[in-house]
Amino acid sequence: MFPILPGQANTLAGVLGDLRTNHFHGGLDIRTQQREGLTVHAAADGYVYRVAVQGTGYGNVIYLRHPNGMTTVYGHLQKFSDSLAAYVRQQQYKKKDFYVDLYPEPNQIAFKKGQAIGLSGNTGGSAGPHLHFEIRDSKDNHLNPLYFNFREIKDTTPPAFWNLALRPTTIDSRVNAQYDRMVFKPVKQKDGSYRIVQPIKATGEVGIELQAYDYMTGTGFRYGLHCIEIKMDGREIFTYNMEKFPSRAFRDYNNLIDYRTDQESGARFYRCYTPDGNDFELYKTDDYSGKLQLRDTLRHEVVIKIYDAFENSSILRFTIEGEKNTPIVQRESETAFNGYLNSELNENVLKITATGVGSSAPFATFFTDRRRVQKDPAYYVNNSAVFLTDLREFLPDSVQVGQKTLPLHYKEVIAPGLPDVYSTTDLAIRFDTTSLFDTLYLATRQSFQSLTINEPTIPLRHYVDVKFTPQGKVIPRERTGVYRYNGSGYSYIGGNWLGDALAFRIRELGSFMVRTDTIPPKVNLVEHSKKRIRAYISDDMSGIDQFRATVNGEWVLLNYEYKNRYLWSEKLDENADFAGELALEVTDRAGNSTILRVEIAEPAPKPAPRKRRR
Ligand SMILES: [Zn+2]
Repeated sequence: MFPILPGQANTLAGVLGDLRTNHFHGGLDIRTQQREGLTVHAAADGYVYRVAVQGTGYGNVIYLRHPNGMTTVYGHLQKFSDSLAAYVRQQQYKKKDFYVDLYPEPNQIAFKKGQAIGLSGNTGGSAGPHLHFEIRDSKDNHLNPLYFNFREIKDTTPPAFWNLALRPTTIDSRVNAQYDRMVFKPVKQKDGSYRIVQPIKATGEVGIELQAYDYMTGTGFRYGLHCIEIKMDGREIFTYNMEKFPSRAFRDYNNLIDYRTDQESGARFYRCYTPDGNDFELYKTDDYSGKLQLRDTLRHEVVIKIYDAFENSSILRFTIEGEKNTPIVQRESETAFNGYLNSELNENVLKITATGVGSSAPFATFFTDRRRVQKDPAYYVNNSAVFLTDLREFLPDSVQVGQKTLPLHYKEVIAPGLPDVYSTTDLAIRFDTTSLFDTLYLATRQSFQSLTINEPTIPLRHYVDVKFTPQGKVIPRERTGVYRYNGSGYSYIGGNWLGDALAFRIRELGSFMVRTDTIPPKVNLVEHSKKRIRAYISDDMSGIDQFRATVNGEWVLLNYEYKNRYLWSEKLDENADFAGELALEVTDRAGNSTILRVEIAEPAPKPAPRKRRR
């Protein structure tokens, strides 16, 4: 049964497999008339297998286990149904914690199909009122709820192509004679199909990336694709199907999309080939992992078909012409060069572009610990010379062209799937078997209190442990931790002091800084009456870690909504008045505390209404 307004036509704000930051969307986002408080119905008979109150993520969430072994999940709830709410509140008082994750006994709290289990809301990581609804099988795979044919949802609008990108994937590959990811704009034809009108020439092995969205009738939202099918010259080379995915694979999303493009521009492209290090069952490919193989000078027809879960589809066609690698025009060899150098790493291939070469033909010298390797340009573009080197051959720490030197900072090759440690006197980086998707060409830079590990454009699969000894004095240590530069500011990571080193875990690469937070949280108490305690809390640097209230030494449940930084009390016995001293303590992640102590105020007696004078 559809859990919101069953029997009435409705629309969705999200579907299974939507590309969200760092993860696939795990279910449906069901719209709730842009408000909170709609009854949420049990989709089938079942018992509460898990119920949780989370600060972010799912917020107030119920997991119902059904007799067939499946589980349905209901997230961002405003309230649990009365019996369930009483159970949760008791447990919160027992554990003296607002945040709880509870697994009641099987059938301790059971619901019949259609029964109200709570009210819809906007709690946790929700940007507006809706119900997040999942269906999982007994192996914790997220199933596509649209396969259950809810008649409340109708859709006749097909998905649309936004952009196509072609990426050379080996050192010998080229797209339009360059070693560059190139973006092409599909043009919609009169018959509704799409075409790329520019000529495309390519050499070697090339990966397709696709930016495309589904649309649904009656909404302005964009959704993830359900299916992608790619054929070259009539032969299927790649398919993607968002029928289901395992819970543990959430982060593999970062390796499905073109992570670098997402980090740099916010545009999310599906990589339509199996990336190294991705063992997803979402794809099926030919023997070349879905990568186009251009080994001749013929014209090849590529057809991409995309579907939504209602089998509405769109088609994109383009022609790609095979090209023999164009020989380099020989120029007079020249060591004088004084232009700009920059580097870009794409999988195993490092590309160095020397801009401002004029008619001369400089060569590049790559330096490693033990040797130097000289390379001629792979090709020229306008006044730039492009040098390519495969990092599997050697790992350079700098490159020189003419008078210009570019430091590269490469330190070591870290293979995925194996534990490995890189260490120097003041830095240790530990990788475990699940840290990486793909080979990492570890590059590090340090300066006083800051550390850079590669670039934020390379995704990590799971955690990496770092031990870093900052240079210079750090006072006071107990308020000092590591923060990551997130593009606009710093977000708190934390860390533990081990001698002079800070040990911390990261899930993203990039720049890190040791910073000190000595400013305690702000607490704005707006009510402390017999009935209720209410406050707004905030913290500038490290952020709120904990809050705790007691009245006469007795712990009081405070609910917290992080989006508006609002705390409010909830009594175990609604009829008992608060009396005595309130102590409210709020602590930030760096360990700074603010403690307020006040007497619970007797509400000021209301002035008696004045009698009207006659
Ligand atoms: Zn959702």
